[in-house]
Amino acid sequence: MIPTRTTREWQAADSAHFLHPFTDYQSLARKGSRVITRADNIYLWDSEGHKILDAMSGLWCVNVGYGQRALIDAATQQLAELPFYNSFFQTTTPPAVALAELLAEVTPPQFSHVFFAGSGSEGNDTVVRMVRRYWQVLGQPERQVIISRHNAYHGSTMAGASLGGMAAMHEQGGLPIPNITHIDQPYWVQHGQGMSRDDFGRLAASWLERKILEVGPEKVAAFIGEPVQGAGGVIIPPETYWPEIQKICDRYGILLVSDEVICGFGRTGHWFGCERFGFRPDLMTFAKGVTSGYIPLGGVMVGDRVARVLIEQGGEFEHGYTYSGHPVACAVALANIRLIQQLKLVEHVHDDVGPYLAQAFAQLAEHPLVGTAETCGLMGALLLVKDQAKLTPFDPAVGIGMVCRGHCFANGLIMRAVGDRMIIAPPLVITRAQVDEMVALIRRCLDLTL
Ligand code: PLP
Repeated sequence: MIPTRTTREWQAADSAHFLHPFTDYQSLARKGSRVITRADNIYLWDSEGHKILDAMSGLWCVNVGYGQRALIDAATQQLAELPFYNSFFQTTTPPAVALAELLAEVTPPQFSHVFFAGSGSEGNDTVVRMVRRYWQVLGQPERQVIISRHNAYHGSTMAGASLGGMAAMHEQGGLPIPNITHIDQPYWVQHGQGMSRDDFGRLAASWLERKILEVGPEKVAAFIGEPVQGAGGVIIPPETYWPEIQKICDRYGILLVSDEVICGFGRTGHWFGCERFGFRPDLMTFAKGVTSGYIPLGGVMVGDRVARVLIEQGGEFEHGYTYSGHPVACAVALANIRLIQQLKLVEHVHDDVGPYLAQAFAQLAEHPLVGTAETCGLMGALLLVKDQAKLTPFDPAVGIGMVCRGHCFANGLIMRAVGDRMIIAPPLVITRAQVDEMVALIRRCLDLTL
């Protein structure tokens, strides 16, 4: 059992023993962690009894909201029935098979196979090994290079962080690993001002072709991207971007990988982000929303082009994790996807709360601190600026995003700051009335930040 303790006791034990991810330890020790103790629907409560609206769905994952009985029951039953067995060495388990089948049904038609992992990072490690193996089996082992984008986030393992384009991560630990290279992101504010968004989308896609020619097309294995860059600040690409990327990948025969760890399972108002932006990936990484974060699970959907080669010509694929196809995680994922279907959450985002949030954000754009306000389904970002008309940024020393985030945290709202971009991704079960409540809180925190 978890012991009962005061907030101070939890904080003391926390800083004595727990090295948190992505955390400045000295700063955390000074402030003390906020202890989150329970959750329901779109709300959290801390150990002092404060109620908090979770506009980030945990870490972009609790798509069906907290407290869903179907997921809790699925886990409990599976724990009692068969808590673990692996899928190495010619065994399988019913939850893993049933989930593989259901994933083939809800993903785009080119996908009939899945490789399971424990997280999004492990999924992307699998992508690196799988695309290189694919070209090796086809007799083109020199096709090693994977092209990604600056400011992308693809995870925290060596391969995941190398695919990612986070400069701060690359500075620690000798990254990226060899044969991974990056192009600029399709961020209009940074690279496209003075151009129409559509022209900028085509220009940003052309950077991929330029990079392919620079590396040598015969050496390029794949291009990977998030349909909308999430952790990079909810960078929503122009509509022209992805169709052009697709054409370039087709022209050079390189594999196209969509990292759907955030965009998958309804976040954009479509089942998958590639469907929202009109491209057809060969591989698709997923995690987070597959179980709504109730239990860790990730993986890669493997398109027929790649699956056929691996299965028919590849021999043994020397890769896998103890928890690939973990039966409890798979049982929870099955319950989660069925609940998304039953509650029609993708339609709810597409037809109802997504457009409703877009309207509310358009009104927030009039706030004097806001330079741009954009949404895509239930992801949104406000760019905080010093001068609204010219989109002049604040001096980085002000740390305007962190100031705003602090006001949110103190006023019952979890919103994340990525530089000067304030971002949200609330649970897909959010109602219109709750969108109003969330936007009123955001407005209040913007006023406090002014
Ligand atoms: N890919 C994307 C797009 C992500 O946003 C993340 C995590 O935020 C990952 C991969 C890594 O997933 P995980 O943290 O489950 O390893």
